[in-house]
Amino acid sequence: MVRQILVPLVLATVPDRPPSPAGGATESPDQVAFRASARAFLSTWAEPLAAADPWQISGFPNNAEARAYFERGRAWQRTLAEHGWAGLTWPAEYGGGAQPAWAERIFSEESTSYGSGPGFIGATIAMLGPTLLAHATPEVKDRFLPSLVSGEVTWCQLFSEPGAGSDLAGLATRAVRDGDEWVVDGQKVWNSCAQFADWGFMLARTDPDVPKHRGITFLLVDMSSPGIEVRPLVQANGSAHFSEVFMSDVRIPAGQVVGEIHGGWGPARTVLSNEAAFIGRGGGAPTSDRLRDLASANDRREDPIVRQRLAAIISREKLQALMGQRIQSSVRNGHKPPFDPALTKVMAAGTRVMTGNLAAELAGPAAMVGNDPIGNWVRAEVVNRFSISIGGGTTEVQKNNLAERSLGLPREPGIDREKAWKDVPRS
Ligand SMILES: Cc1cc2nc3c(=O)[nH]c(=O)nc-3n(C[C@H](O)[C@H](O)[C@H](O)COP(=O)(O)OP(=O)(O)OC[C@H]3O[C@@H](n4cnc5c(N)ncnc54)[C@H](O)[C@@H]3O)c2cc1C
Repeated sequence: MVRQILVPLVLATVPDRPPSPAGGATESPDQVAFRASARAFLSTWAEPLAAADPWQISGFPNNAEARAYFERGRAWQRTLAEHGWAGLTWPAEYGGGAQPAWAERIFSEESTSYGSGPGFIGATIAMLGPTLLAHATPEVKDRFLPSLVSGEVTWCQLFSEPGAGSDLAGLATRAVRDGDEWVVDGQKVWNSCAQFADWGFMLARTDPDVPKHRGITFLLVDMSSPGIEVRPLVQANGSAHFSEVFMSDVRIPAGQVVGEIHGGWGPARTVLSNEAAFIGRGGGAPTSDRLRDLASANDRREDPIVRQRLAAIISREKLQALMGQRIQSSVRNGHKPPFDPALTKVMAAGTRVMTGNLAAELAGPAAMVGNDPIGNWVRAEVVNRFSISIGGGTTEVQKNNLAERSLGLPREPGIDREKAWKDVPRS
C-alpha cells in the first residue's frame, strides 16, 4: 500500500540527471557573480569529469596509483591556492579567501562536473585547519596554516595504535620532555597516506599518572625526523593506502605542541568532529550519478523499485551535503557545530551500504569477475562500504557518542575513567 503511494511520487521527483546547480533567482548578485567566476576558473583549470573517467575507483589497485592520486591532490590544491580559490572561507591572514559560507557551497556545486579535487589532502585540511585555528598559538598558526591550505606541506593523522582505535584515549605512545624537546617512542597504525605526507599531527601520552583523557599531548611532527620509520601496509588489492609508523627517540621541539600540555584531548576531539563531518558530507561527483548510468546500461531505469531506491540515495546525498555545509560554516565562524557531526558520518556509512547494494544488484554477478572499468567500480563500491564505517571512528562508536552527547543517555560503563592510565590493565 505504502509503495503504491510512494512510487508515483518518486517517479515524479527523480530526473534523469539532477538540474544544473545554477542557483537562479534565489541567489544574490554577489552569489551569481561568484558562481560565474568559479565556473570560469574550473573550466580553465579543472579536468572535466568525462576526461577524468567517471568510473574511476576511490581505492587503488597498486601503490604507484595511490601515490599518483596523492600527488594529483597536492597539485590541485596548489592550483587552487595560486588562483585564490583555496581555503575560501578561511581567514585571509592564513592564506584563505575570507568568503562567506555560501562560497564553499557554490564552489563545491560547480566542482561536481569536474574530476579535479584535493583528495586526501582535502581531508587533512578539514581536520587540522579548524583545530589549529581553535587551539594553536599565534606562532604555530602563522607557521603552519598558510602552507597547509596551499598544499605546500602535506599532513597525515597519527592517532590510532595497535591497542587504541575506538578507545583512542587509551593510547600508549610516550612523549617525555627533555629540555626544549619532547622525545617520542611508540607505534601508530592505519595512518592514511603517511608514506607520502611531509608532516604528521599526533597524540602522545605525556602523563601516565592521571586518567587516560587527561595525560595526552597533541604534537606536530616532521615525518623526515630521525627515528621515524614508515612501513606501508599492503591491502588485499595490492594498494598501500595506510602505513604503520614506528617512532624511536623522535625529538620534537616544544613549540610544536597544539593546545595545553597534557590537554591534547581537546584538540583531538576537534580533529575527530571535523573528520566525521568531512567524511559525512560526501563531496565530488555523487555516487547516484553513476548508479543512474548503471541503471540505464542494464535497462533498469524505468524499474519503479530501482527508482525508489535511487530517490532515497539522492535524498540522503543532498541532506548529507547540506548538513556538512552547516557544520563547516559554524566551525569556521568560531561556533559549535549545530548538531553532532557523528550524525552525518553514521548517515554516510548507511548511504554507502545502500549504494553498494544497489550497484551490485544492477550490475549482477558478471561485475564480480573480469576487469572492465564498470565492474571494477562496482566491486570497489561493494568493498569500500566498510572503510567509511570504520575510518574516523566506527559506526558503533559514533552511535555511542550520539547516544551520550546528543541524546543524554547514560554513559557506557567504564572501569578506567577515573583510574591513572598506568594502572589500567592492558594487553
Ligand atoms: C579507511 C580508513 C582510514 C583510516 N585512517 C586513519 C588515519 O589516517 N589515522 C589514524 O590514526 N587512524 C586511521 N584509521 C584507523 C581508524 O580510526 C580505526 O580503525 C578505528 O578508530 C577503529 O579502531 P580499530 O581498528 O582499532 O578497531 P577496534 O577499536 O578494535 O574495534 C573493533 C570492533 O569493536 C567495536 N567496538 C569497539 N569499542 C566499542 C564500543 N565501546 N561500543 C561498541 N562497539 C565497539 C568497533 O565498532 C569495531 O567493530 C583509518 C581506518 C580506516 C578504515
